[in-house]
Amino acid sequence: MIAVSSCLAGIRCRYNGTHSLVEKIEELVKQNKAVLICPEVLGGFPTPRESAEIIGGSGADVLDGSAKVIDKSGRDVTKLYVQGAYKALEIIKEVNASYVVLKENSPSCGSSMIYNGTFSSSKIPGEGVTAALLRREGIQVISENELLDMA
Ligand code: SF4
Repeated sequence: MIAVSSCLAGIRCRYNGTHSLVEKIEELVKQNKAVLICPEVLGGFPTPRESAEIIGGSGADVLDGSAKVIDKSGRDVTKLYVQGAYKALEIIKEVNASYVVLKENSPSCGSSMIYNGTFSSSKIPGEGVTAALLRREGIQVISENELLDMA
């Protein structure tokens, strides 16, 4: 069993109510080979919701309390992001997922790139809050691009 970002399987759970379908991932879910996780929904956010970016660091810094997740209106939503990461971790441990495929660039799910905190569509190397937590727990995290490269 693996776990995947829900939006990659076609669930409309992105901040703006859209999905990021990758057919190969949808297929894995249909074959019961993958469970869905959306850390932001698990954290308690509605869909749609405001976009948010990590300010002052990366996901690991958020977990350590030295960076924050701020939404576009300037509200500090760090707590919900951390909460969602821990809930996702719980599910992943329950199903004993061998690895996890997370949507690149997200402040939760990004595994090698995230937005830089200026809401200007600029990306920087880094990982989201959930990706950072899972890696700390020794769980392998890859992006949808890496999964497709494996084919
Ligand atoms: S990138 Fe992650 S947190 Fe964002 S919608 Fe997809 S699954 Fe949810």
